[in-house]
Amino acid sequence: MENYLKAVYELEEFQERAATTTALAEKLNVASPSVTAMLKRLSQQEPALVNYTSHRGVTLTEVGRLRALKVIRYHRLIETFLYEVLGYTWDEVHEEAERLEHYISERFEDRLARFLGYPDFDPHGSPIPREDGSVPVSNTLPLHKLEVGRPARVVRVVHERQEVRDYVASLGIVPDATVQVTEVSPFEGPVYVRIGAREGEAVHGLGVNVAGKIEVMPV
Ligand SMILES: [Zn+2]
Repeated sequence: MENYLKAVYELEEFQERAATTTALAEKLNVASPSVTAMLKRLSQQEPALVNYTSHRGVTLTEVGRLRALKVIRYHRLIETFLYEVLGYTWDEVHEEAERLEHYISERFEDRLARFLGYPDFDPHGSPIPREDGSVPVSNTLPLHKLEVGRPARVVRVVHERQEVRDYVASLGIVPDATVQVTEVSPFEGPVYVRIGAREGEAVHGLGVNVAGKIEVMPV
């Protein structure tokens, strides 16, 4: 249930529109009928956690949004702890946090947040929602909006498709990598990106649709 709420939240956040059953099925790696059944359950809870009408997609209710943010808060606090204290690498923390996020108590959350000094961002650079449900604003920008020639650090790749995230990672576009836009073609044309800040390093062309899902922080 928590994973569904989280998935709806993430789809809404990154696509800026209602999540569809198909997108949820793909994201959660489950069959569409199971998604539909779960969405019905979540919409019939008292209070309802989602607004769901078939063919019109699904949105979170205020109660659902707060629940999703709480799980995301747990997840990102755990990731920060694993990374900063237990010495996990950034690419190891996610899977571990996916499991642990469903099992910690509010007391543990409190202690963890205090221990970590109430961080606003996790090691991926993603904002950690606060207890009141507000979300820290990060000053990242999508790669295609980066000034040409300006080096930036990759904060996170938020594309909803795993294949795209894998492809982008295979080019070396991973959190903490340095990138530089060398050229942006007009009219939604490709964005040319140099991986690494030095002249002579590989330059790759990315569609705006992909570049727009890579969040960077100018350095
Ligand atoms: Zn994660």
